[in-house]
Amino acid sequence: MNKIQMVDLRSQYLEIKDQVDEEINKVLENTAFINGPVVKEFAAQLGDYLNCENVVPCANGTDALQIAIMACDFPRESEILVSTFNYVAAAETIALMGHKPVFIEADEEYFNLDPEKIEEKITDKTRAIVSVHLFGQSSKMERLQEICKKHNLLIIEDNAQGIGGTYEIDGKVLSNGTIGDIATTSFFPSKNLGCFGDGGAIYSKRTDLFEKSKKIANHGQRVKYDYDAIGVNSRLDSMQAAILKVKLTRLDEYISKRNKAAQMYNERLGNIENLILPKVHDKASHVFHQYTMKVGEGRRDELKSYLADKGIPSMIYYPKPLHKNDAYIEFANPNEVFHIAEKLSASVLSLPMHTELGDDQVDYICDSVRDFFKN
Ligand SMILES: *Cc1c(COP(=O)(O)O)cnc(C)c1O
Repeated sequence: MNKIQMVDLRSQYLEIKDQVDEEINKVLENTAFINGPVVKEFAAQLGDYLNCENVVPCANGTDALQIAIMACDFPRESEILVSTFNYVAAAETIALMGHKPVFIEADEEYFNLDPEKIEEKITDKTRAIVSVHLFGQSSKMERLQEICKKHNLLIIEDNAQGIGGTYEIDGKVLSNGTIGDIATTSFFPSKNLGCFGDGGAIYSKRTDLFEKSKKIANHGQRVKYDYDAIGVNSRLDSMQAAILKVKLTRLDEYISKRNKAAQMYNERLGNIENLILPKVHDKASHVFHQYTMKVGEGRRDELKSYLADKGIPSMIYYPKPLHKNDAYIEFANPNEVFHIAEKLSASVLSLPMHTELGDDQVDYICDSVRDFFKN
């Protein structure tokens, strides 16, 4: 059995080495390292895949969020709602842009923000909700839409973990990121669609937000050397686009491999007391960026080290809700307790999940988890 890893980028690369190397060589030959034709080709291909033609490639997923927020042009010190059980990028870019991240409690079953905890946080300064499709599954978009319509808020979808997933709304199956007003994603190597460095994208069905994002990502230039907005320099380089072009043709296959591994985990880890497996919402297709379980009775850390001793890595995403971090304490009401988010941070554990997991590896991981709970 091969060594078990959280992600296995090397084996995945070897599978597609010939194609990837050929595309990289083309970039080396024509030396258009920045804004080469391949960047446009990839953006068009991603647009087809997402069924949303307005794609702006950029340098990484955090930039994508910043640019999306800039494109929305909120008044200074707007309040933007985001789950506290989260990766930092959304709250970080909200604060950086001079707005206030307002933390929302998490949904215990699905890990995303709890739509029922949103309305109590809305004030006359609230302008948007960032829905982070955590671990590869969309938030409950029909409720978010309802709330946002009622209170006139925008929906920004952080789809860094959910690319390729879908959500059914009004009987239509839509690609994650195409339900809200604007979406962002990341091509960090370990993401479901990852390149060999940094990369990201913004996409939106709204032409106005798309055009603004495109301009902002390119120094706010209307035409070259004519600036009508303050922008940033955020580009996807040609080499990364070339790699992503190849990997995008495999994304559906990658997602089904992840689902197959998740299915095996579900079958072999069912019915263990104190172990709750991830749930898939009946409107969502899950892309299992992470396979995240909840471990009861304060035994999570013990399980993690038990597995480590057996050569099995596991990760805690995320060990501390954002409002508990020194940098973000000022944005939370000191008396407020986020019971669910705190409980999740204390109980979640993500198992190895990638496209190259062998059946023998999954079996070994599951046997080890079962052994732990027998003791
Ligand atoms: C990875 C990630 C990001 C940031 O992407 P980078 O490319 O690393 O900047 C943002 N949000 C979420 C939810 C992520 O998982």
